[in-house]
Amino acid sequence: MQLVFATHNANKLKEIQQLIPSFIELVSLDTLGCTADIPETANTLEGNARLKADFITRTYQLPCFADDTGLLVHSLNGEPGVYSARYAGIENNSQANMTKLLHNLKDKEDRAAHFKTVIALNINDETHLFEGKVEGVITTNQKGEHGFGYDPIFKPNGYDQTFAQLPLSVKNEISHRGRAFKQLIAYLKNI
Ligand code: IMP
Repeated sequence: MQLVFATHNANKLKEIQQLIPSFIELVSLDTLGCTADIPETANTLEGNARLKADFITRTYQLPCFADDTGLLVHSLNGEPGVYSARYAGIENNSQANMTKLLHNLKDKEDRAAHFKTVIALNINDETHLFEGKVEGVITTNQKGEHGFGYDPIFKPNGYDQTFAQLPLSVKNEISHRGRAFKQLIAYLKNI
């Protein structure tokens, strides 16, 4: 079964490639020759996941899934949430986003946060949604070289290292995206 992953993010693609079972042939946007700026203008994670998946299904008429992820910091009322990619104002500048978040948490005792992923799958003229979540804390400084986005400042509960320090296999086992993706695979196995 061919399945398009609607992302231009090479790190996300790498994560999902490690989890993909052999009955699925993962098709990247590069393979499709798609360089379009896929719309992400909704104000919810679900809305953005649907927008991205719908864009690809409309354009290429192929089964497709897209994810949208947010980091929700509890003492900041869920910020940056759906605006995680452009928290500091510039699209996808991870360093600026982390610097702003660490600054905003400077005087907060409660540093609890969670990542949440919503995946929208378009297949057989239907849309199916899957969710994954991981709880943790925001560290006081950046640690680790792996991963992307906010990984250097997110320490999942039960671990002494940030997502950027943990091997990708461990991140995938417990992460928001890994958990949502495993549900998507379970669904595809049964249709
Ligand atoms: P997106 O809109 O799903 O691509 O993600 C929104 C923002 O969350 C981007 O700034 C990403 O860097 C960040 N993000 C998404 N997934 C992860 C992750 O697994 N670890 C750290 N940051 C992430």
